[in-house]
Amino acid sequence: MQEMENVMYVKNAPPLGSDPDTIFFVQVDATKCQACGECENHCATGAIQPINDEGIRQVLNPAACMNCGQCLINCPYGAIYEGVSYVNEIFEKLKDPDTIVVSMPAPSVRYGLAECFLRPVGTYAGGKMHAALKALGFDYVWDNEFTADVTIMEEGTELIERIAKPDKEKPLPQFTSCCPGWIKFVESFYPDLLPHVSTCKSPIAMLGPLAKTYGAHETHCRPEKIYTVSIMPCIAKKYEGLRQEMADSGFRDIDATIDTRELAYMIKRAGINFETLPDRKPDPILGQSTGAATIFGNSGGVMEAALRLAYEKLSGKTLKDPAIKLVRTREGINTAEIDVPNFGTVKVAVASGLTNAAKLCDEVRAKMADYHFIEIMTCPGGCVNGGGQPVDPEVRTASLARKIRLAMTRRTGSAIQKGEII
Ligand code: SF4
Ligand code: SF4
Ligand code: SF4
Repeated sequence: MQEMENVMYVKNAPPLGSDPDTIFFVQVDATKCQACGECENHCATGAIQPINDEGIRQVLNPAACMNCGQCLINCPYGAIYEGVSYVNEIFEKLKDPDTIVVSMPAPSVRYGLAECFLRPVGTYAGGKMHAALKALGFDYVWDNEFTADVTIMEEGTELIERIAKPDKEKPLPQFTSCCPGWIKFVESFYPDLLPHVSTCKSPIAMLGPLAKTYGAHETHCRPEKIYTVSIMPCIAKKYEGLRQEMADSGFRDIDATIDTRELAYMIKRAGINFETLPDRKPDPILGQSTGAATIFGNSGGVMEAALRLAYEKLSGKTLKDPAIKLVRTREGINTAEIDVPNFGTVKVAVASGLTNAAKLCDEVRAKMADYHFIEIMTCPGGCVNGGGQPVDPEVRTASLARKIRLAMTRRTGSAIQKGEII
């Protein structure tokens, strides 16, 4: 490993006030690396590279890494590990009677968790997930789907405002803002495009402060006693939770972030029998949601949900069929034109993966893109295939792309189906 100044390896929770740009959220175990180069095929920024003549890879500099974890879940030899884990700290907080521990699971976690308990890829396990969180001892099981809905309202409203009156500070096209891998990417490589990025926070960046303000008020808890745990399909969300500006509640909005794999590990370590858990709903106040929130985890889902709102506001008509299938995408770039009565045509694009995001950014930078709205998700197919989701065992047996795509299709299809019926 190269010696670098001002970078951190932290095994557990980073010290308070840590700069997330100095932390290695993923790194290669050189003793396990077989120099196959597969990780580089999944990295859009060149952050992971050979460090010697044998071709052993490493993440060279945390500032260049978007923390997406796609290298980790696609390494056939299991040589890439996560550098930050809040698991031990969360177990300590759960034992502390003086701390109110709040869980905030993302939409996609419930489409990945059951795989860790040997259920087929794409199995929906929302009820068991909520039950497991309660069994682990969380005082409140609130749900990030609540603020996925809020995000749609905010982002859809902002889109309508931009369409009505685009200006220098809020130009068109509007980019989505909920994916922290994408946000770090645009900040690092296309800072001139930041006015195009929606000013809305991500769903978890809304739920953290809501938990410590509205949630604290409604449950008669003192906010300083509340410890918020973000549960994500994603490693980049650990980075997001540590961003300095995530303190709108007057406290750290997000105290800890774990991913789907770590939640499964916690359930197993606590000796909970996941299979026999009865389904449970999230706790009220910050637990309700709609199907629009559910499809958030799928590439094109944020776009589809925001368009449902924009369509009805712009046209004054009710959508007969809320499924705007044109914008659903699993890989690459998808573009669509939606005819909106009383308005005209809304042009949209959905990009899956940062290499595709860069193509759209180049078009926007060159003023060659006449879209109104662009959704970017760092992970192929969206969060259902995030870097914090279970690793498909078949990846480890090295047949790779076709099987990864199969897993992706099954998780994505499951999320879409559920989102349409809620
Ligand atoms: S994919 Fe894994 S084994 Fe292959 S080069 Fe990358 S880290 Fe090494
Ligand atoms: S986490 Fe993502 S950006 Fe970082 S090295 Fe891996 S693939 Fe590249
Ligand atoms: S697509 Fe989802 S899982 Fe992947 S980096 Fe973005 S927020 Fe995380």
